[in-house]
Amino acid sequence: MLESLRSIVQQVSDSTDLGLALEIIVRRVKQVMRVNVCSVYLRDGASGRYVLMATQGLKRRAIRKVSLSTEEGLVGLVATREEPINLESADQHPRFHYIPETGEEKYSSFLGVPIIHHRRVLGVLVVQQKAKRRFDESDEAFLTTLSAQLAGVIAHAESTGDLAQLTQGDVDGKREIEFHGIPGAPGVAIGQVVVISPVADLYATSAVSSRGEKLELEEYRLAVEKTRKDIRDLEHSLTTHINEQERLLFSAYIQMLDDQSLGKEVLARIADGQSAQSAWSEVILAHCRRFEEMGDAYLRERASDLRDIGRRVLGHMQERDVEEIVFPDNTILVGEELTASILGMVPPEKLSGLVSVKGSTNSHLAILARAMGIPTVVGVGGLRIGRLRGQEIIVDGYYGLIFLNATPAHRAHFEEVLREDRQLLAELEVLRNEPAVTLDGARISLLVNTGLMADVKVSLERGAEGVGLFRSEVPFLSRDRFPIEEEQRKIYRDLLVPFAPRPVIMRTLDIGGDKSLPYFPIREENPFLGWRGIRVTLDHPELFLAQTRAMMKASVGLDNLSILLPMISGVTELEESLVLIRRAFRELTEEEGFALRMPKIGVMIEVPSAVFLARDLARRVDFLSVGSNDLTQYILAVDRNNSRVADLYQAMHPAVLAALNHVVKAAHAEGRPAGVCGELAGDPLGATLLMAMGYDTLSMNASNLLRVKAFIRQIQSKQLKPILRRALKSSTAEEVRALMLEFVSDPQLRRLTALAPGLGKS
Ligand code: PEP
Ligand code: MG
Repeated sequence: MLESLRSIVQQVSDSTDLGLALEIIVRRVKQVMRVNVCSVYLRDGASGRYVLMATQGLKRRAIRKVSLSTEEGLVGLVATREEPINLESADQHPRFHYIPETGEEKYSSFLGVPIIHHRRVLGVLVVQQKAKRRFDESDEAFLTTLSAQLAGVIAHAESTGDLAQLTQGDVDGKREIEFHGIPGAPGVAIGQVVVISPVADLYATSAVSSRGEKLELEEYRLAVEKTRKDIRDLEHSLTTHINEQERLLFSAYIQMLDDQSLGKEVLARIADGQSAQSAWSEVILAHCRRFEEMGDAYLRERASDLRDIGRRVLGHMQERDVEEIVFPDNTILVGEELTASILGMVPPEKLSGLVSVKGSTNSHLAILARAMGIPTVVGVGGLRIGRLRGQEIIVDGYYGLIFLNATPAHRAHFEEVLREDRQLLAELEVLRNEPAVTLDGARISLLVNTGLMADVKVSLERGAEGVGLFRSEVPFLSRDRFPIEEEQRKIYRDLLVPFAPRPVIMRTLDIGGDKSLPYFPIREENPFLGWRGIRVTLDHPELFLAQTRAMMKASVGLDNLSILLPMISGVTELEESLVLIRRAFRELTEEEGFALRMPKIGVMIEVPSAVFLARDLARRVDFLSVGSNDLTQYILAVDRNNSRVADLYQAMHPAVLAALNHVVKAAHAEGRPAGVCGELAGDPLGATLLMAMGYDTLSMNASNLLRVKAFIRQIQSKQLKPILRRALKSSTAEEVRALMLEFVSDPQLRRLTALAPGLGKS
C-alpha cells in the first residue's frame, strides 16, 4: 500500500487539473483498498454544502447533483467533527442518510476522512464496502495521508478559481475571482499582466498560445536540435568518467527526442493548433505520469530523466520569450518568485504593480517594492500564473488581494482608492521641510533606508534628515564579481555627497540568508541560521577591510559617515570587527595620509542574544540600531520569507515589543542613542510605539516618510506613555492591534495608517 501511496501522491501533485486529480484519487483508491466505492465530496463556498464531485462505485449521474449539509449524513458528520469516522455497519448509524440517486443502500461499511487545509475543511474523502468490513488503522492512515495531499491541490484550485468552475460550472471563466496573498507594498494598481516565467517550468505553459503551425514547428525543431547538442557535449565532457552502461543512457536521451518517439505526439498537437511550449510540456508530463504509475522502481525513476529532458527543451524554446517581452503602460509583473534583479528589466515608468507567488512581507523584493512605492502582493499560494498572462488585474497591496475579471463596481471602487492615494500624497508633500514633532513639541529624527541610487533623489525630496540604513549589499547584487575598493569608494561617495552634512549610516555587507550574490553563492540547509552578515565578512577580512576602507575614503572632507555592523550576536564578533575597522583607519590615516576622522560605529540588534547583551555592546560602540525585521523573525522563530507562516510574523508581538523596549533602555543606560531601521519604523503605529519607548531615530523607506511624519505631527506625546504601558502588558499581538486601532479611531489619523508588517488588515 505504501508504494501505491507514493505513486498516487505523485500523480495528484503533478496534476494541473483538479477534476483530473479527483478522478485519479477515486479510481486508484478503489483499486488499492479493494473497496466498492470511493468518493470525494467538496465544500461549495456559496452554499456551504458538500457536493459529490467524483466517485467510483456510486452512480456517476449523481456527480454534482447530490450534496449534503453539515447537518446531513455521515459526510456532514465527518466535516463537523473534523476527524475520520470508521463504521462497520454504517446503515445502523443515526446519521446515516439514504440518498436514492447514489444507490447507496447496498453499502454497509464506511470510512470517511476530512480534507483539511490550513484549518479549513474543504471536503470529505469516503470509501465504502458492501460486505461488513472493519477498516483498520493502516486504511485510515492511508486515506488521511491522501486527503492531506488532496487538500493542497483543492486549495490551489480554490485560489485559481478552478474550484468554483468545477462546483458551480462557471463555464466561460468570466466571473470575478479574488486571489488571496500577503500585502507586500501598500497601494493599488490596475494594469496588464506580464508573466515572468521561471525558466522551463513544465507546469506553466498552458496559456502560451500558438503563433501558427509553421512558427511553432520551427521553434520546436530548433529547441530539440539545441538539446541534442547539449546532451552530446555533456556526454563528450564526461567520456573519461562514465562507463558503457551510462553512455547508453545518453543515447536513450537522444532517441527520446526523435520524431518517432515523443516528437510524434508533439507534432500532432502542434498541427492541432497548440503552441510548441504547451504541446511539449503536456506530452512530457503525461509520459512522466505513466512512468510513475509503473510498478518497477527503475522505470519509475526514468520519469525524472524525462522531466530533465523536458526542461532542457522547454528552456531553449523560452530563450526567445525572454528577449521579446514587451512591457505595456501599467505593467503588472507576475512571477513565481520575483527577485529584486527582475525589477531592473522593466522601465520604471511602465511598472505599476508586482505579484509574486512566493515571498513574504519582509522578503527583500517586498522591501524594495515599498522603497519604490510599487503596490505589491506576495505569497499568493497556488496562483496559476499562466492564466493571468495579458489579462487586466487589480492589485490591492493594502490587503494583499488580486482581482481578475473585476466587476465594474469593484473596478470603480479601486479607481477611487487610486485617486484618494494620489491626493493624500500631494497633501503630504507640503510637510517635506517640516520637522517630525508632536502637537506638544516632542521631536524625533526621521531617516531613510536606501540601497539603490534611485532612492537618493526621492529621499531628499521627501525631506529625509539623513540615511539610517544603507544596505551596501544592493550594489554588490547587480554585478558579476565583487566590486574592487575604488569602485566601492565611488558608489559610497555618490551617496555621502548629496546627503552631506546629514548623517549617512552605511551597513557593511549583509549577505547570506535570502541574499546570495550570483558570483558568491552560499548554499545551506538553514541559511537564516547560517553563514550570514558579519559571520561572512569576518571570515573574509579582505572583503571587510576593502569595504570599510572604501567607505572611509569616500567620506574624506565630509565627515558624515557612520558604519553599522549587521547580525552581531555577541561581543567577540563586535571586538573582532572593531579591530579590523581600526586597522583600516590606521592604514588610511597613518600610512596613506588621508585626512579622516574616525567614523561613528554602530551595532545592529537583530539577534536575540544581542538584545540580552545590549548594554555590553552599546558600551563598546557609538550607537545601536535595531533591525526589527530579523529581530522579529528570530524572536518568534518565523521565517520572514515563508508565506505559510506569514500570519505568525507579528512585528507588534508583545515579545518583540519587550525586546525593543529593553534595547532602548540599555543603550540609554550607557549614554548611547538608539534607532530602529526595520520596517516597523515606517509604519505610523509602529513608529508611535517606538517613539513612546524613547527611540532617538527611526529609519524607513522613503515612501513611508511623509506619512509617518504627518502622523506624528497630529498626535500628543503625552498620549504615548499610557498606550505603551498597555501594549507592553498585552499578551497577544491581537490585543496590541486592538489597542492601536482604538488609538487611531479618529478618521484623519486612520487615513494615514498603512499596514504594519505583521499587523494585519487595518
Ligand atoms: C532588519 O533586519 O530589520 C534590517 C533592517 O535589515 P534587512 O531587512 O536588510 O535584513
Ligand atoms: Mg537584517
